[in-house]
Amino acid sequence: MIEEYIPFVSEETIEELFILSKKLNGVKVLHVNSTYKGGGVAEILHRMVPLMNALGVKTDWKVFKGDKKFFSFTKKLHNLLHLGYGEKIRSEEIVYYLKITYENFKEIDTENYDVVFIHDPQPMGLVIKKLPGQKWIWRCHIDTSSPDPNAWNFLENFLNAYDVCIFHMPEFVYERIEIPTYIISPSIDPLHPKNIELSQEEIFQTLTKFGIDPEKPFILQVSRFDRLKDPFGVLSAFRIVRKKYDCQLALVGSFAEDDPEGEEVYKELLNLTSDDKEVFVLNLPPDSYREVNAFQRGATVVVQKSLKEGFGLVVSEAMWKEKPVIGSNVGGIKRQIIHGITGYLINSVEGLAMRIKQLLANEYFRKEMGYYGKERVKHRFLIIRHLRDYCLIISRILN
Ligand code: UDP
Repeated sequence: MIEEYIPFVSEETIEELFILSKKLNGVKVLHVNSTYKGGGVAEILHRMVPLMNALGVKTDWKVFKGDKKFFSFTKKLHNLLHLGYGEKIRSEEIVYYLKITYENFKEIDTENYDVVFIHDPQPMGLVIKKLPGQKWIWRCHIDTSSPDPNAWNFLENFLNAYDVCIFHMPEFVYERIEIPTYIISPSIDPLHPKNIELSQEEIFQTLTKFGIDPEKPFILQVSRFDRLKDPFGVLSAFRIVRKKYDCQLALVGSFAEDDPEGEEVYKELLNLTSDDKEVFVLNLPPDSYREVNAFQRGATVVVQKSLKEGFGLVVSEAMWKEKPVIGSNVGGIKRQIIHGITGYLINSVEGLAMRIKQLLANEYFRKEMGYYGKERVKHRFLIIRHLRDYCLIISRILN
Protein backbone atom coordinates (compact mmCIF):
# COMPACT_ATOMS: atom_id res chain seq x y z
CA MET A 1 0.00 0.00 0.00
CA ILE A 2 2.72 2.48 1.00
CA GLU A 3 4.87 1.41 -1.97
CA GLU A 4 2.12 2.59 -4.32
CA TYR A 5 3.28 6.12 -3.51
CA ILE A 6 6.70 5.64 -5.08
CA PRO A 7 5.61 7.31 -8.35
CA PHE A 8 4.91 10.50 -6.36
CA VAL A 9 7.82 10.64 -3.94
CA SER A 10 11.29 9.15 -3.98
CA GLU A 11 12.05 5.58 -2.91
CA GLU A 12 14.32 6.98 -0.20
CA THR A 13 11.40 8.89 1.29
CA ILE A 14 9.39 5.68 1.54
CA GLU A 15 12.35 3.79 3.04
CA GLU A 16 12.85 6.52 5.58
CA LEU A 17 9.18 6.32 6.51
CA PHE A 18 9.47 2.58 7.17
CA ILE A 19 12.55 3.08 9.33
CA LEU A 20 10.78 5.77 11.31
CA SER A 21 7.62 3.75 11.78
CA LYS A 22 9.54 0.67 12.96
CA LYS A 23 10.39 2.58 16.09
CA LEU A 24 6.67 2.89 16.76
CA ASN A 25 5.94 -0.82 16.67
CA GLY A 26 3.50 -1.69 19.42
CA VAL A 27 2.38 1.91 19.92
CA LYS A 28 -1.40 2.39 19.82
CA VAL A 29 -2.77 5.62 18.43
CA LEU A 30 -6.31 6.97 18.45
CA HIS A 31 -7.79 9.84 16.43
CA VAL A 32 -11.04 11.47 17.54
CA ASN A 33 -12.97 14.06 15.54
CA SER A 34 -16.65 14.88 15.23
CA THR A 35 -17.73 13.65 11.80
CA TYR A 36 -17.04 10.77 9.45
CA LYS A 37 -18.25 12.79 6.48
CA GLY A 38 -17.80 16.31 5.25
CA GLY A 39 -14.90 18.71 5.58
CA GLY A 40 -11.15 18.40 5.42
CA VAL A 41 -10.50 16.69 8.77
CA ALA A 42 -12.62 13.64 7.94
CA GLU A 43 -11.15 13.67 4.45
CA ILE A 44 -7.61 13.31 5.81
CA LEU A 45 -8.47 10.74 8.48
CA HIS A 46 -10.09 8.44 5.92
CA ARG A 47 -6.65 8.12 4.30
CA MET A 48 -4.29 8.70 7.20
CA VAL A 49 -5.67 5.96 9.47
CA PRO A 50 -5.31 3.03 7.01
CA LEU A 51 -1.87 4.29 5.97
CA MET A 52 -0.63 4.46 9.57
CA ASN A 53 -1.83 0.87 10.03
CA ALA A 54 -0.08 -0.13 6.80
CA LEU A 55 3.10 1.26 8.33
CA GLY A 56 2.60 -0.99 11.35
CA VAL A 57 1.42 1.73 13.75
CA LYS A 58 -1.84 0.44 15.23
CA THR A 59 -4.23 3.36 14.69
CA ASP A 60 -7.97 3.71 15.28
CA TRP A 61 -10.43 6.48 14.51
CA LYS A 62 -13.49 7.24 16.61
CA VAL A 63 -16.15 9.87 16.11
CA PHE A 64 -17.47 12.03 18.93
CA LYS A 65 -21.25 12.19 18.69
CA GLY A 66 -23.31 15.31 19.20
CA ASP A 67 -26.73 16.57 18.22
CA LYS A 68 -27.86 19.72 16.44
CA LYS A 69 -27.87 21.75 19.66
CA PHE A 70 -24.32 20.66 20.49
CA PHE A 71 -22.98 21.35 17.00
CA SER A 72 -24.74 24.73 16.83
CA PHE A 73 -22.75 25.67 19.92
CA THR A 74 -19.45 24.27 18.62
CA LYS A 75 -19.99 26.04 15.27
CA LYS A 76 -20.46 29.27 17.22
CA LEU A 77 -17.30 28.47 19.17
CA HIS A 78 -15.48 27.77 15.90
CA ASN A 79 -16.56 31.16 14.53
CA LEU A 80 -15.59 32.95 17.76
CA LEU A 81 -12.13 31.40 17.66
CA HIS A 82 -11.65 31.95 13.96
CA LEU A 83 -13.09 35.46 13.67
CA GLY A 84 -12.39 36.78 17.18
CA TYR A 85 -15.93 38.09 17.68
CA GLY A 86 -19.53 36.99 17.57
CA GLU A 87 -22.46 36.14 19.78
CA LYS A 88 -21.53 35.59 23.44
CA ILE A 89 -21.24 32.10 24.90
CA ARG A 90 -24.11 31.37 27.29
CA SER A 91 -23.69 29.35 30.48
CA GLU A 92 -26.38 26.86 29.45
CA GLU A 93 -24.37 26.16 26.29
CA ILE A 94 -21.35 25.26 28.41
CA VAL A 95 -23.48 22.97 30.54
CA TYR A 96 -24.75 21.29 27.36
CA TYR A 97 -21.23 20.90 25.96
CA LEU A 98 -20.18 19.18 29.18
CA LYS A 99 -23.26 16.96 29.18
CA ILE A 100 -22.56 15.72 25.63
CA THR A 101 -18.87 15.34 26.44
CA TYR A 102 -19.80 13.19 29.42
CA GLU A 103 -22.04 11.00 27.22
CA ASN A 104 -19.11 10.50 24.86
CA PHE A 105 -16.87 9.58 27.81
CA LYS A 106 -18.91 6.45 28.18
CA GLU A 107 -18.97 5.65 24.46
CA ILE A 108 -15.39 6.37 23.43
CA ASP A 109 -12.78 4.12 24.92
CA THR A 110 -9.52 6.05 25.12
CA GLU A 111 -7.86 3.95 27.83
CA ASN A 112 -6.16 1.46 25.54
CA TYR A 113 -4.09 3.96 23.59
CA ASP A 114 -0.65 5.44 24.10
CA VAL A 115 -1.28 8.54 21.98
CA VAL A 116 -4.62 10.27 21.46
CA PHE A 117 -5.12 12.92 18.76
CA ILE A 118 -8.15 15.13 19.39
CA HIS A 119 -9.15 17.14 16.33
CA ASP A 120 -10.61 20.64 16.80
CA PRO A 121 -12.72 21.97 19.69
CA GLN A 122 -15.76 19.67 19.48
CA PRO A 123 -14.25 16.60 21.24
CA MET A 124 -11.69 18.58 23.23
CA GLY A 125 -13.27 17.94 26.62
CA LEU A 126 -12.53 14.21 26.37
CA VAL A 127 -9.08 15.03 27.73
CA ILE A 128 -10.55 14.76 31.22
CA LYS A 129 -10.24 10.99 30.66
CA LYS A 130 -6.49 11.19 30.13
CA LEU A 131 -4.54 8.55 32.08
CA PRO A 132 -1.02 8.86 33.50
CA GLY A 133 1.52 7.80 30.89
CA GLN A 134 -0.72 8.62 27.95
CA LYS A 135 0.12 11.47 25.56
CA TRP A 136 -2.73 13.61 24.29
CA ILE A 137 -2.36 15.91 21.30
CA TRP A 138 -4.76 18.68 20.38
CA ARG A 139 -4.74 18.90 16.60
CA CYS A 140 -6.19 22.30 15.75
CA HIS A 141 -7.32 22.87 12.18
CA ILE A 142 -8.35 26.50 12.57
CA ASP A 143 -6.77 29.90 12.96
CA THR A 144 -6.86 30.84 16.65
CA SER A 145 -4.36 33.69 16.44
CA SER A 146 -6.81 36.33 17.73
CA PRO A 147 -9.72 34.52 19.30
CA ASP A 148 -12.65 35.95 21.17
CA PRO A 149 -11.30 36.06 24.78
CA ASN A 150 -14.25 34.24 26.35
CA ALA A 151 -14.16 31.49 23.77
CA TRP A 152 -10.45 31.11 24.41
CA ASN A 153 -10.94 30.97 28.20
CA PHE A 154 -13.40 28.17 27.69
CA LEU A 155 -10.99 26.25 25.50
CA GLU A 156 -8.00 26.84 27.73
CA ASN A 157 -9.62 24.89 30.56
CA PHE A 158 -9.11 21.80 28.44
CA LEU A 159 -6.03 22.77 26.46
CA ASN A 160 -3.74 22.87 29.47
CA ALA A 161 -4.41 19.18 30.13
CA TYR A 162 -2.91 18.26 26.72
CA ASP A 163 0.75 17.39 26.26
CA VAL A 164 1.21 19.20 22.96
CA CYS A 165 -0.83 20.93 20.29
CA ILE A 166 -0.38 21.07 16.52
CA PHE A 167 -1.37 23.90 14.20
CA HIS A 168 -1.22 24.27 10.41
CA MET A 169 0.76 27.50 10.50
CA PRO A 170 2.83 29.43 13.06
CA GLU A 171 0.55 32.44 12.50
CA PHE A 172 -2.41 30.47 13.87
CA VAL A 173 -0.92 29.97 17.31
CA TYR A 174 -2.41 32.20 20.00
CA GLU A 175 0.28 33.85 22.12
CA ARG A 176 -1.24 32.61 25.38
CA ILE A 177 -0.63 28.93 24.59
CA GLU A 178 1.77 27.47 27.12
CA ILE A 179 2.03 23.81 26.12
CA PRO A 180 4.57 22.75 23.45
CA THR A 181 3.35 23.59 19.97
CA TYR A 182 4.20 22.03 16.61
CA ILE A 183 3.43 23.04 13.05
CA ILE A 184 2.28 20.44 10.52
CA SER A 185 0.59 21.21 7.20
CA PRO A 186 -2.32 19.06 6.09
CA SER A 187 -2.08 17.08 2.89
CA ILE A 188 -3.91 15.44 0.03
CA ASP A 189 -3.68 11.87 -1.13
CA PRO A 190 -2.84 11.41 -4.82
CA LEU A 191 -4.35 7.90 -4.69
CA HIS A 192 -7.70 9.03 -3.29
CA PRO A 193 -10.55 8.68 -5.83
CA LYS A 194 -10.84 12.45 -5.54
CA ASN A 195 -7.35 13.00 -6.88
CA ILE A 196 -6.61 10.15 -9.29
CA GLU A 197 -6.41 10.76 -13.03
CA LEU A 198 -9.75 10.60 -14.84
CA SER A 199 -10.48 10.12 -18.51
CA GLN A 200 -11.57 13.16 -20.48
CA GLU A 201 -14.76 11.26 -21.23
CA GLU A 202 -15.64 10.84 -17.55
CA ILE A 203 -14.98 14.53 -16.93
CA PHE A 204 -17.22 15.55 -19.82
CA GLN A 205 -19.94 13.13 -18.77
CA THR A 206 -19.96 14.37 -15.18
CA LEU A 207 -20.17 18.03 -16.19
CA THR A 208 -22.93 17.30 -18.68
CA LYS A 209 -24.87 15.24 -16.14
CA PHE A 210 -25.07 18.29 -13.89
CA GLY A 211 -26.03 20.62 -16.76
CA ILE A 212 -22.64 22.31 -17.23
CA ASP A 213 -21.54 22.90 -20.81
CA PRO A 214 -18.03 21.35 -21.03
CA GLU A 215 -17.20 23.48 -24.07
CA LYS A 216 -17.74 26.76 -22.25
CA PRO A 217 -15.33 28.14 -19.62
CA PHE A 218 -16.38 27.44 -16.08
CA ILE A 219 -15.31 28.75 -12.72
CA LEU A 220 -15.49 26.48 -9.73
CA GLN A 221 -15.53 26.73 -5.97
CA VAL A 222 -15.85 23.49 -3.97
CA SER A 223 -16.71 24.02 -0.30
CA ARG A 224 -19.05 23.14 2.48
CA PHE A 225 -21.97 25.59 2.41
CA ASP A 226 -20.49 27.87 5.02
CA ARG A 227 -20.54 31.68 5.18
CA LEU A 228 -16.82 31.72 5.94
CA LYS A 229 -16.21 30.14 2.50
CA ASP A 230 -17.94 33.23 1.05
CA PRO A 231 -19.87 31.66 -1.83
CA PHE A 232 -21.81 34.94 -1.98
CA GLY A 233 -18.60 36.83 -2.75
CA VAL A 234 -17.80 34.33 -5.50
CA LEU A 235 -21.23 34.90 -7.00
CA SER A 236 -20.73 38.69 -6.97
CA ALA A 237 -17.34 38.33 -8.67
CA PHE A 238 -18.83 36.01 -11.27
CA ARG A 239 -21.53 38.57 -12.07
CA ILE A 240 -18.83 41.15 -12.78
CA VAL A 241 -16.85 38.70 -14.95
CA ARG A 242 -19.87 37.71 -16.94
CA LYS A 243 -20.38 41.25 -18.21
CA LYS A 244 -17.35 40.58 -20.38
CA TYR A 245 -17.03 36.78 -20.69
CA ASP A 246 -19.56 34.13 -21.54
CA CYS A 247 -18.84 31.61 -18.80
CA GLN A 248 -20.40 29.47 -16.09
CA LEU A 249 -20.04 29.18 -12.33
CA ALA A 250 -20.36 26.03 -10.23
CA LEU A 251 -20.60 26.26 -6.45
CA VAL A 252 -20.19 22.65 -5.47
CA GLY A 253 -20.77 21.79 -1.85
CA SER A 254 -22.05 19.37 0.68
CA PHE A 255 -23.29 19.37 4.25
CA ALA A 256 -21.12 18.19 7.11
CA GLU A 257 -22.77 16.42 10.04
CA ASP A 258 -21.07 18.77 12.49
CA ASP A 259 -22.06 21.98 10.66
CA PRO A 260 -25.75 22.84 11.07
CA GLU A 261 -25.45 26.14 9.11
CA GLY A 262 -25.07 24.41 5.76
CA GLU A 263 -28.70 24.02 4.81
CA GLU A 264 -29.51 27.67 5.40
CA VAL A 265 -26.58 28.88 3.25
CA TYR A 266 -27.47 26.40 0.51
CA LYS A 267 -31.08 27.62 0.38
CA GLU A 268 -30.00 31.26 0.27
CA LEU A 269 -27.71 30.51 -2.66
CA LEU A 270 -30.48 28.67 -4.51
CA ASN A 271 -32.80 31.64 -4.02
CA LEU A 272 -30.23 34.10 -5.28
CA THR A 273 -29.44 32.10 -8.40
CA SER A 274 -32.77 30.48 -9.31
CA ASP A 275 -33.19 32.51 -12.52
CA ASP A 276 -29.56 32.26 -13.63
CA LYS A 277 -28.93 29.40 -16.04
CA GLU A 278 -25.16 29.81 -15.93
CA VAL A 279 -24.86 29.32 -12.18
CA PHE A 280 -24.93 25.81 -10.73
CA VAL A 281 -25.37 25.45 -6.98
CA LEU A 282 -24.85 21.75 -6.43
CA ASN A 283 -25.33 19.97 -3.16
CA LEU A 284 -23.60 16.61 -3.51
CA PRO A 285 -23.42 13.70 -1.05
CA PRO A 286 -20.16 14.02 0.91
CA ASP A 287 -18.71 10.91 -0.73
CA SER A 288 -19.06 12.19 -4.31
CA TYR A 289 -15.32 11.85 -4.75
CA ARG A 290 -15.11 11.14 -8.47
CA GLU A 291 -17.62 13.89 -9.20
CA VAL A 292 -15.60 16.48 -7.25
CA ASN A 293 -12.49 15.22 -9.03
CA ALA A 294 -14.20 15.66 -12.41
CA PHE A 295 -15.38 19.18 -11.53
CA GLN A 296 -11.89 20.20 -10.47
CA ARG A 297 -10.34 18.68 -13.60
CA GLY A 298 -12.97 20.17 -15.88
CA ALA A 299 -12.84 23.71 -14.43
CA THR A 300 -11.13 26.50 -16.31
CA VAL A 301 -10.29 28.41 -13.14
CA VAL A 302 -10.70 27.29 -9.54
CA VAL A 303 -11.38 29.82 -6.80
CA GLN A 304 -11.47 29.73 -3.00
CA LYS A 305 -12.76 32.99 -1.62
CA SER A 306 -12.79 32.11 2.07
CA LEU A 307 -13.04 34.92 4.61
CA LYS A 308 -11.06 32.77 7.03
CA GLU A 309 -9.47 29.42 6.28
CA GLY A 310 -7.74 26.76 8.34
CA PHE A 311 -5.97 25.26 5.39
CA GLY A 312 -8.32 24.73 2.48
CA LEU A 313 -7.50 21.29 1.10
CA VAL A 314 -9.52 22.15 -1.98
CA VAL A 315 -6.75 24.53 -3.03
CA SER A 316 -4.13 21.78 -3.10
CA GLU A 317 -6.59 19.38 -4.71
CA ALA A 318 -7.10 21.79 -7.62
CA MET A 319 -3.39 22.62 -7.89
CA TRP A 320 -2.63 18.90 -8.05
CA LYS A 321 -4.91 18.80 -11.09
CA GLU A 322 -2.84 21.55 -12.70
CA LYS A 323 -5.45 24.26 -12.29
CA PRO A 324 -4.62 27.88 -11.64
CA VAL A 325 -6.19 28.73 -8.28
CA ILE A 326 -7.31 32.16 -7.12
CA GLY A 327 -7.71 32.25 -3.37
CA SER A 328 -8.21 34.79 -0.62
CA ASN A 329 -5.12 36.08 1.05
CA VAL A 330 -6.01 34.33 4.31
CA GLY A 331 -4.96 31.38 6.47
CA GLY A 332 -3.69 28.21 4.86
CA ILE A 333 -4.53 29.48 1.38
CA LYS A 334 -1.55 31.85 1.67
CA ARG A 335 0.68 28.88 2.37
CA GLN A 336 -0.41 27.01 -0.74
CA ILE A 337 -0.70 29.58 -3.51
CA ILE A 338 2.39 31.41 -4.68
CA HIS A 339 1.03 34.68 -5.94
CA GLY A 340 1.63 35.13 -9.65
CA ILE A 341 3.23 31.68 -9.99
CA THR A 342 0.65 29.02 -9.11
CA GLY A 343 -2.36 31.35 -9.02
CA TYR A 344 -3.34 34.60 -7.35
CA LEU A 345 -4.06 35.78 -3.85
CA ILE A 346 -6.88 38.29 -3.68
CA ASN A 347 -8.44 40.55 -1.04
CA SER A 348 -11.82 41.56 -2.50
CA VAL A 349 -14.67 40.65 -4.82
CA GLU A 350 -13.30 43.10 -7.39
CA GLY A 351 -9.83 41.57 -7.11
CA LEU A 352 -11.26 38.12 -7.65
CA ALA A 353 -13.22 39.28 -10.70
CA MET A 354 -10.14 40.95 -12.18
CA ARG A 355 -7.98 37.85 -11.75
CA ILE A 356 -10.63 35.53 -13.15
CA LYS A 357 -10.85 37.74 -16.26
CA GLN A 358 -7.09 37.76 -16.58
CA LEU A 359 -6.95 33.97 -16.49
CA LEU A 360 -9.90 33.43 -18.78
CA ALA A 361 -8.11 35.59 -21.34
CA ASN A 362 -4.81 33.72 -21.21
CA GLU A 363 -4.64 29.98 -21.73
CA TYR A 364 -0.85 29.93 -21.69
CA PHE A 365 -0.84 31.50 -18.23
CA ARG A 366 -3.39 29.02 -16.97
CA LYS A 367 -1.28 26.10 -18.15
CA GLU A 368 1.92 27.47 -16.74
CA MET A 369 0.39 28.19 -13.34
CA GLY A 370 -1.18 24.75 -13.33
CA TYR A 371 2.20 23.17 -13.93
CA TYR A 372 3.86 25.05 -11.05
CA GLY A 373 0.87 24.38 -8.80
CA LYS A 374 1.24 20.64 -9.20
CA GLU A 375 4.95 20.84 -8.47
CA ARG A 376 4.28 22.79 -5.28
CA VAL A 377 1.78 20.24 -4.00
CA LYS A 378 4.12 17.40 -4.90
CA HIS A 379 6.88 18.85 -2.74
CA ARG A 380 4.86 20.15 0.19
CA PHE A 381 1.34 18.87 0.53
CA LEU A 382 1.19 15.14 -0.20
CA ILE A 383 0.16 12.63 2.44
CA ILE A 384 3.53 10.85 2.67
CA ARG A 385 5.10 13.99 4.13
CA HIS A 386 2.18 14.25 6.54
CA LEU A 387 2.60 10.61 7.65
CA ARG A 388 6.26 11.25 8.27
CA ASP A 389 5.44 14.32 10.40
CA TYR A 390 2.96 12.33 12.48
CA CYS A 391 5.43 9.47 13.01
CA LEU A 392 8.08 11.96 14.07
CA ILE A 393 5.85 13.73 16.56
CA ILE A 394 4.63 10.46 18.08
CA SER A 395 8.16 9.17 18.54
CA ARG A 396 9.26 12.49 19.98
CA ILE A 397 6.53 12.78 22.62
CA LEU A 398 6.84 9.16 23.70
CA ASN A 399 10.55 9.50 24.43
N1 UDP B 1 -15.53 18.38 -0.29
C1 UDP B 1 -16.23 17.43 -0.98
N2 UDP B 1 -17.44 17.73 -1.49
C2 UDP B 1 -17.97 18.95 -1.34
C3 UDP B 1 -17.27 19.94 -0.61
C4 UDP B 1 -16.04 19.63 -0.10
O1 UDP B 1 -15.75 16.30 -1.15
O2 UDP B 1 -19.07 19.17 -1.83
C5 UDP B 1 -14.20 18.05 0.22
C6 UDP B 1 -13.10 18.79 -0.48
O3 UDP B 1 -12.76 18.18 -1.69
C7 UDP B 1 -11.99 18.75 0.57
C8 UDP B 1 -12.78 18.82 1.87
O4 UDP B 1 -14.10 18.39 1.59
O5 UDP B 1 -11.29 17.55 0.49
C9 UDP B 1 -12.84 20.23 2.41
O6 UDP B 1 -11.63 20.53 3.05
P1 UDP B 1 -11.12 22.00 3.20
O7 UDP B 1 -9.87 21.93 3.99
O8 UDP B 1 -11.04 22.67 1.88
O9 UDP B 1 -12.26 22.77 4.03
P2 UDP B 1 -13.06 22.44 5.39
O10 UDP B 1 -14.39 21.92 4.97
O11 UDP B 1 -12.27 21.46 6.18
O12 UDP B 1 -13.20 23.77 6.05
